[in-house]
This record gives sequence, structure tokens and C-alpha cells, in this order.
Amino acid sequence: MERTLVLIKPDAIQRGLIGRIIGRFEEKGLKIVGLKFMKLGDQLLNEHYSHLLDKPFFPGTRSFMQSTPVIAICWEGLDSVETVRRLCGITKAREAAPGTIRGDLAMSVQANLVHASDSIETAAAEVKRFFDDSELFDYDSAATGTIYSQDELG
Ligand code: UDP
Ligand code: MG
Repeated sequence: MERTLVLIKPDAIQRGLIGRIIGRFEEKGLKIVGLKFMKLGDQLLNEHYSHLLDKPFFPGTRSFMQSTPVIAICWEGLDSVETVRRLCGITKAREAAPGTIRGDLAMSVQANLVHASDSIETAAAEVKRFFDDSELFDYDSAATGTIYSQDELG
């Protein structure tokens, strides 16, 4: 099954929204295969946001992302990359659709609560960047057979 990376950002940590945000993904039916609390160093952040290095706002984004530790989660599910992105909503949180995490809980472009991988290729690279193999777990979840139909599970 597909895996994707989510970061719970410093604004969520400060606002006490960790549980609610994890809950949104859990209740959707995604399965946690890796989870940790970590401080992001300059090198990791520069790699993670390499598409933004030249942007004038990037120094601000980097210091925001370093203002508290963040929670990194690897979620697993069918089409999880697209599904998780849709659940998060668009970057500019105050314009994100109601029902999405950003749309329901945030107002800012920078402080938008969550990061989610934006393609299957990015997800594979990001999961590898944030987790060692030994930090990712294969285990049976009793809910899987209820969350999906048998033909979806193959
Ligand atoms: N960001 C920002 N100002 C901007 C655009 C982006 O501070 O004008 C921050 C914001 O936290 C965003 C992150 O940089 O989530 C990564 O930007 P990207 O365009 O990849 O958006 P995302 O994939 O998070 O929706
Ligand atoms: Mg992005």
C-alpha cells in the first residue's frame, strides 16, 4: 500500500491541535506506520523545502519550522498521497475548503498546521528522508478488512 509523509507543524504543536490533527487522519481510515517527535536541522529543512530555497519567504518558513519540534508521521493507505493532500487542503489556509484540516483550523499561508507529500515520488523520498527503515512498521490492523472492500485489497 502507498505511504506518505505528514509533518505536524509548530503552530499545531503550540495550539494544542496534535490530537485533533492525528485524529482526522485516523478516522479517515489511514494507518500509522511511523511516528516521531523531532527538531528539524537546517540541512534537513533545506532538502525538504528545496523547491522554496530561492523564495523571499523561505528564511521565515525555515525559522517557523524550527520554532518547536515537529511530529513526523508516515501514513499508509490506498492512494494515501492524494487522499492526505486533499484532507489537508490548499496552502493558503484561510482559503482552504471547509472540511479540510487547514480549512477548518487555520488562517495563515505559513502557519498552516501540516505538511503532506505532494506526489508519489516525493512521498517516497520524504518518507526516506524522515524515517530510517527500522522506524517504519509492518503490522496487521484489524480495521483494514472493514475500511476497504476485499477487491480493493486484492
Ligand atoms: N510557505 C510560506 N509562504 C508562501 C508559500 C509557502 O510560508 O508564500 C510555507 C508554508 O508553510 C507552506 C510551505 O512553505 O506549507 C511549503 O510550501 P508549498 O508550496 O510546498 O505548500 P504545501 O505543499 O505545504 O501546501
Ligand atoms: Mg509542498
